[in-house]
Amino acid sequence: MALTGIIAKNGAHNSYDRWHIARSAAKEMKKISNGTKKTKGVTWHPELADKVSRMRNHLYWSMEHCNGDETTLKRNLDTAIDHFQMRHDGCDASSVCRQPGYIPDFIVLQDPAAVRLLTKFVHTSAIYRRPADYIYGRDTYLVESYNNVMLLYIDKRIHYGNQTYEMRRNLASSIGTNMCHVATRLCGVVDTGIRKARQRKETLCAKDFHVRNQDMGRAAVSNFLRRD
Ligand SMILES: [Zn+2]
Repeated sequence: MALTGIIAKNGAHNSYDRWHIARSAAKEMKKISNGTKKTKGVTWHPELADKVSRMRNHLYWSMEHCNGDETTLKRNLDTAIDHFQMRHDGCDASSVCRQPGYIPDFIVLQDPAAVRLLTKFVHTSAIYRRPADYIYGRDTYLVESYNNVMLLYIDKRIHYGNQTYEMRRNLASSIGTNMCHVATRLCGVVDTGIRKARQRKETLCAKDFHVRNQDMGRAAVSNFLRRD
């Protein structure tokens, strides 16, 4: 039985990570945003060329602002289709597009073929088909970061004694929790051309493996030394 089946059978609510689904959706979006001259207007459309990162951001926003409700999540996703056609009635009240005199910074969808492709993309996406798995908008990057630090201190190929294992695990815990905070995103405007001028790029700080919480580090080692 698949893992999701076991989870459902035990009455737990399954929830997927936002980053992975947004990344795979962006890949699908790329397929309809560019292509060969022969398939232009059929499998892809030039009016969707600047929508890849915008749709990825919209997926994030939709999951974050659905209040745990499946219908709201699907409605949030649908608003993008109207938004890119300059119909903003369904857009969020705080959005800049609801303000008078709004000038779009994207290519407005005018060709029905482009609208059809975008609609198909939204309605066939995993989030739209299985909204219950995404309504909580979970992020797992902190756990993944922590796992990476654990592997630095507890090599899977080495057999440690119980005490050494415990010390290394405690060291990893004391560092891992700090490292997660170090690898914070710094956003800035990237001036790489007219189209990307307003796009934001994330920059990760260099990883820092120093034990910041000296008390925790000392406790991990002294606990080990006391036993010996
Ligand atoms: Zn709008």
